Amino acid sequence: MSETRLTPNLDLDGITPDEAFAVLGNEIRLDIIRVLWQANAVRRFDEVSDIAATLSFSDLRHRVEIDDNGRFNYHLSQLTPHFVRHTDDGYRLSGAGKQIARTVIAVSDTDDFDFSADLEQRCPLCDAPMTASYEDQWLRVRCTECDGQFGDETPHGSVFLSNYPAAAIAERTADEALTVGFYRCMLDNAYFMHGICRECAGSISASVSVCSAHQPQTENPCPECGTHSQVWATQRCETCGFAKRLPVEVFTMGLTPVIGFLDEHGIDVLAPSLEEIVNLLQHRIETAISKDPFRVTVAIEGESGTMGVSLDEELNVTSLDRPRPN
Ligand SMILES: [Zn+2]
Ligand SMILES: [Zn+2]
Ligand SMILES: [Zn+2]
Repeated sequence: MSETRLTPNLDLDGITPDEAFAVLGNEIRLDIIRVLWQANAVRRFDEVSDIAATLSFSDLRHRVEIDDNGRFNYHLSQLTPHFVRHTDDGYRLSGAGKQIARTVIAVSDTDDFDFSADLEQRCPLCDAPMTASYEDQWLRVRCTECDGQFGDETPHGSVFLSNYPAAAIAERTADEALTVGFYRCMLDNAYFMHGICRECAGSISASVSVCSAHQPQTENPCPECGTHSQVWATQRCETCGFAKRLPVEVFTMGLTPVIGFLDEHGIDVLAPSLEEIVNLLQHRIETAISKDPFRVTVAIEGESGTMGVSLDEELNVTSLDRPRPN
């Protein structure tokens, strides 16, 4: 059988996470991945197109600067076929090898990088100035005056908080970083609500927690749970552990019918402004709980009526009421 893209003539035994960590836990092997990446010895595209470049064994060994042929061959063999592919033309990174290289690039940044800055846009909750900071690969936008959006679930004053890859933040202003961070979060919600992990394509498991004595107040968080939202949901990838915890209303915005409904009202929920979403949460969304069976119903008010989404304790949609067109 000839080797094609979809039927590679490879003995691809599985590799467990422990084995993968062990294989990659070596400087020479990571150097091989770095050299292949920098030499563009990869499949050039991630979809459809099959254009690939390679490096020969001797060229690769020379660039990694290992003189001992046997030693170099041993380390290279540990990486094939899972991270490095050996073809008739030479060596290149596999899809997994490319992903390792991309992850290293995404989390790298310059040594003396400081992102602290004031935003041009003002707090959608109280109209005070907001500041952005970047620590430990997290982008945090904080209001300088009010308590922020999430109560006790996040550091005081947080209006937006999200993991953000270091390599891409340096080139952006604070306002741009917030826009991009928000965009990524809303797309994450769409992935989660479809039960798929954005990071690894694994399956998602979800659960909800309800404040049983919730006392909604306009300004301050509920004294019982310390937040503004009665129902919080946790979504977690069963394969890689990628997880988010957010008010349930925010997750429902990742459902296709809700995306469509809000689009009809001039809100692109996959690329919204912070102000649009905060206004929506504060003034146009009501959440109700019912028991036996447990349901959380999120009602979103629109011009032509109210859309209602009911979810069970694992965030499956159990019913959907769309407003009838006028
Ligand atoms: Zn504020
Ligand atoms: Zn509460
Ligand atoms: Zn995952």
